[in-house]
Amino acid sequence: MKNNYSDRYFLVLYFHHFLVDSVRGYFVQKNNAHFEIHHQVIEFDGDPLENEASVLEFSIPEEAYRENETLRSIALHLPKRSGGFDGRMRFLQSTVISEAEFNDVLETEDKRKETIREKAKGNRNAVIDLLEKQGYNPIPSDANEFVWTAGCKFHGGKHFMFIDTRTNICSCPYGGKREHLGE
Ligand SMILES: [Zn+2]
Repeated sequence: MKNNYSDRYFLVLYFHHFLVDSVRGYFVQKNNAHFEIHHQVIEFDGDPLENEASVLEFSIPEEAYRENETLRSIALHLPKRSGGFDGRMRFLQSTVISEAEFNDVLETEDKRKETIREKAKGNRNAVIDLLEKQGYNPIPSDANEFVWTAGCKFHGGKHFMFIDTRTNICSCPYGGKREHLGE
């Protein structure tokens, strides 16, 4: 991991994923009447990458774009997605926010998710018990207080599925399989 990344990136984040870690740089690109916010993977599993294709994250109409303000709000919005599909985020560098500001958002988000998980625990039911007995390791989600996740029963536990404790419907996010369990 380098100490200094190009100033072209208004934000540089480290993503800790269970498969592979990466570093992403976020930058602005003008496209006709829009300002586009892109990210680019600049390190993958510890190795620098060059000329990696960028991914468009946001497109902001010119009249709504206020450089510093817009970039700050995006930089403070991104940590809310930490811990999602791309893994847990860590602040590396920014020209628009401080590390403390970034960490404040992460911490607030962690607390919010923990509150949701606690509520989801309280909504545990017989279907969750059954999935546990069957070895699918159900855990309360941080998506909302009614939803749990477990190993996918449709695909041999290879990835996770959702269980809604209100309806007892299990659904696989890949391929859309659904099944009603229990009463
Ligand atoms: Zn599945």
